[in-house]
Parts: sequence; C-alpha cells; structure tokens
Amino acid sequence: MAKSNGRRKRRDIFDERMLIVPFGIMFGIWIVAAVACSQQADRLLVAFLIYIGLFIGAGIGTYIALDQNRRELGRRLIMLMMGGLLLVVALFSDHGNMQIEGLFWAFLAGIGPYILLHYALAKIVGPLIFGRIWCGWACWFGMIFNLLPHQHSRFRLPAPWGWLRYLHFIASFVLVAILWLAFNYNGALGRNGLIWFVSGLLLYYVVGIGLALIMRDNRAFCKYLCPISVPMKVTSRFALVKVAGNQEADCANCNVCVEMCPMNIDIPKYIKNGERVLSTECTLCLTCINLCPDDDLWLSFGFDIGGKEHIDYVPPRSRQAAKPS
Ligand code: SF4
Ligand code: SF4
Ligand code: SF4
Repeated sequence: MAKSNGRRKRRDIFDERMLIVPFGIMFGIWIVAAVACSQQADRLLVAFLIYIGLFIGAGIGTYIALDQNRRELGRRLIMLMMGGLLLVVALFSDHGNMQIEGLFWAFLAGIGPYILLHYALAKIVGPLIFGRIWCGWACWFGMIFNLLPHQHSRFRLPAPWGWLRYLHFIASFVLVAILWLAFNYNGALGRNGLIWFVSGLLLYYVVGIGLALIMRDNRAFCKYLCPISVPMKVTSRFALVKVAGNQEADCANCNVCVEMCPMNIDIPKYIKNGERVLSTECTLCLTCINLCPDDDLWLSFGFDIGGKEHIDYVPPRSRQAAKPS
C-alpha cells in the first residue's frame, strides 16, 4: 500500500461493488413486502417493510458512498431514521411496553409476544452476530443522545459507575415481580403498558440528557445506567462481526480512535495483543474505522471466546493536564 511521509494514504476511492449488499437486501425486503401485500397482510406491516427496505438500501448505500470523514454524520442520520421509525411503531402499534420492565412482565406472565420477539432479536440473538449494533444504529434513546454536544466524550468526567446498570436491571426485575405476584398488576400490555412505556421513555430521556450534559459525555447513560445493555453485554461477547486491526501494521499510536470512540474503548490495546476489539461496550458505530488516519482498522467476521474489557478510563484531557509542563 502506498505510503507518504511514513503514513499510508487514506482510502478515497469509492467502490461501487459495495452497494450490492444494501441494495440486494432492499430488493429482498421489498419482495417480501409485495408478497405480504398480495396476501392482504396488515397495511402497517407492509409499510414498515417498504420503509425498512428503503432505509437499508438508500440509508446504508449513502453511508458507504460518503467520504470517510462524513460517515459519522451519516450514521447519526440513519440512527434518527431507524430509531424514530421503531419508536413510532412501538408507540402506535399497541404492541405493549418495550421498556425492560415490559420484558420482565412478558416473561413472568407469558404475555406480550412482540415484546419478547423484539428483545430476542435485537437484544439477545442479534448481538451474537452484530454485537451491540442496536446501540450504535437503532436505539431510540441513543439517537437523541447522539445529538448532544459531547459526541466523543473527549472531555468527559471519568466515573467508575458501570455497576449501576446491573443494579438497575435487578431492581427493575424485583419491582415487576412484586407488582405482578403481590398485586396482579400487569404493566406489559394495554393502557397500563402504554403509560409505563411513555413514562419510562420520558424518564430515560431526562436522566440521559441531564447525565450527558453534567458528565460531558453523550453516552453516559449507556455506560452507567441503561439496564438494556446488560443482556446485550452477555451475548455480544460472542459477536461474529467485530472491529479488527493488523497487529503488524504501523499504527501511529495517535490515539485518534480512542479519543473518538464514544464508548472509550482502548482499541490499540486489543490490536497490539493480536485480538479483535472484544469489548462488550462496542456499539459497532464504525467511528474508529472511519477516522483512523492510517486505515489500520476494519470490520471482520470471526469467532472469539472470552475477552477482556480494555477501557480508556482516563479522558485524554485529564492525561494532558497531568503531564509535567
Ligand atoms: S446502552 Fe441502552 S440507551 Fe444506550 S444505546 Fe444501548 S440500549 Fe440505547
Ligand atoms: S470500538 Fe470503534 S466501533 Fe466500537 S464503539 Fe468504539 S469507535 Fe465505535
Ligand atoms: S487511530 Fe488508532 S489504530 Fe489508527 S493509527 Fe491511530 S492509534 Fe493506531
């Protein structure tokens, strides 16, 4: 590969062949929509399939065609489109309470098939293949957090509070179990489910936005408080698709990838250890791949067992402040 001034030239050639995948998926989904329409399926389902097809074809296709430096903006737009659609469908389709408490009710009471399906696909089985792609591309909370001013948490306040999300997860389960077993209260479906869902949405948005502004870290809620990340962290450990890099490559140690990673993952540490990025905090946002000035990172397909969390706990700004002048 060509090098200039000791650095490799950035990829600047767009390969049209990459468009085959999103457009292929788009037409595949549209065929399913046409079949569903011919079978007189629910109109909402047909509209949903058409939109999802368009989203994958046009959205992902445009993302691939963008210059690498602009792809982060493209991802945020795609996330708004995807998260916004899913939120509207979740709110107006009467499928129940999609908060984690809705899952617990559905699980305990054997009700709410859509809730169970949503969590099974997006939060448990999906991460076995694509890791926490939900968090990087589709979450209706993350899509709003992305719009706040501390996108890359470069100046974040450090906080060792990751354990709080496990506490939140357990507390939610205990609360639901008490309400269901002691009071026969069902917060999964119907009016109760909708009230619980909307209240939970508002609470998460207020707390998440407040925390982001106070901690100077858009994804503070994701790192410290979100109970939904708990099951995803378990299965994403085995994700087939992960970020990888070449151990032999001439990594410039510029730390751009670490500073720009919204989840503060110490990416070069994995690469230097000859591992893929095994952190279960990775949301597959691809920021590190797009911004690495040496193109030393890429998406890979493989299987790993185990995996340590290499997190960059000290924000770059604090490190600089600690340097002797
Ligand atoms: S950690 Fe939670 S709030 Fe953050 S993007 Fe993932 S699911 Fe959404
Ligand atoms: S490691 Fe890369 S893909 Fe994963 S969250 Fe960090 S920047 Fe995004
Ligand atoms: S962005 Fe990361 S992987 Fe790329 S050269 Fe800099 S330190 Fe190395």
